[in-house]
Amino acid sequence: MMLIFEISKKGRKSDYLPACDVPLSALPQASKLRKDPPKLPELSEIELTRHYTRLAKQAFGVNSGFYPLGSCTMKYNPRVNEVTASNPNFMGIHPLQPLESAKGCREVLDLAESLLCEVTGMNAMSFQPAAGAHGEYTGLLLIKKYHELRGDHLRTKIIIPDSAHGTNPASAAMVGYSVVNIPSDANGCVDMDALKKACTDEIAGLMLTNPNTLGLFDPNILEITQLVHACGGLNYYDGANLNAIMGKSRPGDMGFDVVHLNLHKTFSTPHGGGGPGSGPVGCKNILKSYLPDSIMIEGRKPESIGQVRSFYGNFGIVVRALTYILSLGSDGLKAASETAVLNANYLMHQVKEYFPVAYDHVCMHEFVLTLEKTKHDKNISALDVAKGLIDYGMHPPTMYFPLIVHEALMLEPTETESRESLDQAAMAFKAIKEKIDMDPDALHAAPLSTPIGRPDEVNAARNPILRYTSK
Ligand SMILES: *Cc1c(COP(=O)(O)O)cnc(C)c1O
Repeated sequence: MMLIFEISKKGRKSDYLPACDVPLSALPQASKLRKDPPKLPELSEIELTRHYTRLAKQAFGVNSGFYPLGSCTMKYNPRVNEVTASNPNFMGIHPLQPLESAKGCREVLDLAESLLCEVTGMNAMSFQPAAGAHGEYTGLLLIKKYHELRGDHLRTKIIIPDSAHGTNPASAAMVGYSVVNIPSDANGCVDMDALKKACTDEIAGLMLTNPNTLGLFDPNILEITQLVHACGGLNYYDGANLNAIMGKSRPGDMGFDVVHLNLHKTFSTPHGGGGPGSGPVGCKNILKSYLPDSIMIEGRKPESIGQVRSFYGNFGIVVRALTYILSLGSDGLKAASETAVLNANYLMHQVKEYFPVAYDHVCMHEFVLTLEKTKHDKNISALDVAKGLIDYGMHPPTMYFPLIVHEALMLEPTETESRESLDQAAMAFKAIKEKIDMDPDALHAAPLSTPIGRPDEVNAARNPILRYTSK
């Protein structure tokens, strides 16, 4: 496909601006002016729309087909979210507007805070963090502040299980903590003996996802959080993916002190390239006064960790998430979780006929396959299967995560898929399995139905070409 710069022809235009009817005025001499005009592509409107339509057709999104990206919750973004968010009274708002003229927006934030606190069992929430990892960083700063203000300076370590999302240890390191890694037991849950050994007076806290990234709910969760509290640490809940437990169980009741949510996962706001994201952080009363402040709006709060992003975060995303919550209602949120869990189990039961499940229990919102044996016996890797699935019209599952499962494929269908689309996905796995048995080498070339088959991923990551240079 040609780049927009290659289609460009000098002098082609697609603007409708009227001729300038005010005197021209030169830019001040003091400003640094560029010597050459910018090299912008020049296209007619139809060329432009065709170019972007071609591009859009090459992208695969939730609106194109089944997108079971485990841990990422690629769920449908209901249109009603967009209708609400495009209300001019939300879109045209300025964060520095006098509050009397923006009361409705304040109400949106307050209502979203109270509903999400109810869902999580927290007492207060900040919408400043712009992503899940950003929320983790913010939440850990709250924990750090708590220990600092108590004069407890020896707590330098955070306990993180080995099934954690990679952002957890990264966030802990950003905040200056070192990580104590806890292995999973034979059931894929926290190894309690290892946890007991790790709980010392050097522990600032624990970071945990429950259900974890294997899609399993830890049956020892209350004992886990009690152990950490007993040694003086606080409990951080990675709630990026709350899709299995909304309206069913609450991190606050499990003994967690601070939590982040990914509105762009559980709460149906656009994800990935369609962002921006939002990773609000909620906490219990003991941490409330440390929540981020907004210097421009409310001034510096004495105990706050400070500002982590401008103003109120990605406000338009909060409007969309609140629309989702209100349109479902509390029964609807529960039903969404129930359906997400049912869909995952329904798909797991079909797919495990063809490929083994890593931890074969009833799962929550997602499950993990292991292709270790297929790799060993037939030289077909998780990557080959993922690429093969593309030719059946679905987006590949998450690959090679969590790290504790070899040749992992992690599937999360979400509640928005119908029984028919789950059956179709299972059929795709069946077809791949048959291919592996009959003609395994064919899979090494997949996908065959896309403009590009197998890009050189290492080269693309190591030597990215991010800038167009004209020939
Ligand atoms: C997605 C995810 C994150 C990180 O969220 P981002 O918005 O991508 O930064 C953290 N933890 C878990 C369990 C996740 O699934």
